This record gives sequence, C-alpha cells and structure tokens, in this order.
Amino acid sequence: MKKIFLFGNWKMNQSLRATENFAAESAAFFSERPGLKAETEICIFPPFVLIPEAVKNFTNLGVTVGAQNASDHGEGAYTGEVAPSMLKEAGCRYVIVGHSERRHIYGESSELVNKKALNCLTSGLIPVLCVGETLEERDAGRTTDVISDQLRKGVKDFPAGAAYVVAYEPVWAIGTGRAASAEDAEKVCRLIKDSVRVPVLYGGSVKPSNAAELFSRPSIDGGLIGGASLKARDFFAILKNF
Ligand code: 13P
Repeated sequence: MKKIFLFGNWKMNQSLRATENFAAESAAFFSERPGLKAETEICIFPPFVLIPEAVKNFTNLGVTVGAQNASDHGEGAYTGEVAPSMLKEAGCRYVIVGHSERRHIYGESSELVNKKALNCLTSGLIPVLCVGETLEERDAGRTTDVISDQLRKGVKDFPAGAAYVVAYEPVWAIGTGRAASAEDAEKVCRLIKDSVRVPVLYGGSVKPSNAAELFSRPSIDGGLIGGASLKARDFFAILKNF
C-alpha cells in the first residue's frame, strides 16, 4: 500500500489553545491506530506564531510541522518576512510555496515562488509547490498549459534529486465544497507526476466523504487539506477508509 500524505494547511486560523487541543485529540487517534505512523506522512502547517507550540506538541506524535510561506531572502532588513533558516531552526520540515491565496491575493508570480522554493531547499526544507488553474482558465480549456507553466517555472534551477512535493489545488475547488472529480484530479496529477516524479497531493474541498476515492488514484499521493484540517476529528476521519 502506498504511503498517504495528509497535510493540513491551517491558513490564518487557530490559537495556542486550539493547537494543544488538536495535539491531544491526535494522540487519542494515534493510540487507536498504532499502524498509522508507518502508513502516513502527516504534517500540520500552522500560522508562523503557532509553529513553536505545534513543534512542542506534535513532535512526539510523529506529526511533522511546516510553514505556509517563507521569504525569498536570507536574514536581513526585510520587515515582516520570515527566512527559511528561521523556520528550519524552529523545527519545520516542509514549507508551502505558491499557494493560490499567495498568488491571487498577494500577487506572487511563479518567479517569486521559485525563488522562495530555492531558498527553502538551501535551508534544508522541503518545498510543497502549489499549482492550480482558475475556473476561467479551466473553462477556456487551459488547465494543462497553466499547470505545466506553473510547474516548469516553479522548479526552475532545482538541483537534481532535490526533495520536494507538488500539490495540485484547482483554485475553483478551494474552500468551495466543490472538489475536483477523482478522474479530473488524477489526470492533472498524472501530468505532474510524469514530469517531476515526486509525491503529488490533491487539494481543494477534501473531506472524509471524498478522500478515499481521490487518494486511491495512482497519481494522487494524498491531500493538502484546508477547512477539514482545523478539527482533529475531521482531519483524521479523512483516513478512516484506509
Ligand atoms: P479547503 O480544503 O478548505 O478547500 O482548502 C484547500 C487548501 O487551500 C489547502 O491548501
């Protein structure tokens, strides 16, 4: 059986108390499913300020912690930014780069996303490169072109053998309750996997009721989960059919 990646992107949600509670509920779930650690790679991506609390509470459970963003620069005079080296020191393993909310709300280009990803690699962090088409692009039949372009620019100059993950998150499926069909998600994830041969996750309205169908497809190695990652009960329910 393939290893399932279950990545929870908390976005700008949660609190110190919620982080502790999530860890306590996760511990209960792990004790019910002792085999889980070997079958899954679970990572939580809290807001920056909750990273130390998450590392403190999750590490013993075998749940890793990641960041939702990182600077394209090293330490220095960049007000409001966080350097990958700092995230590494804080205990992060992964960093999300190019999430559609960063691309569309904050205007991040694929070139900037690539710089951030390269900077993360230099600090020994594993980038989770997000790619995804808008509804307009999908309706215009441009999905393949958009994904190929974001992917090519995103991994430019990556050293051979670099460790990274790609998350396919169609913009129209994020937070809408309308996930891509397993067929459509598989098609795009296969396109990605054929080109980069790294783990490929699907994200966009993943929930307990649709996860098994999505994750059983050969090119989908797991999910990057937003809304359903905020409560441990929902998050772990995603694994109940595996
Ligand atoms: P939802 O699971 O809330 O649709 O969010 C997906 C996402 O953007 C994860 O990065």
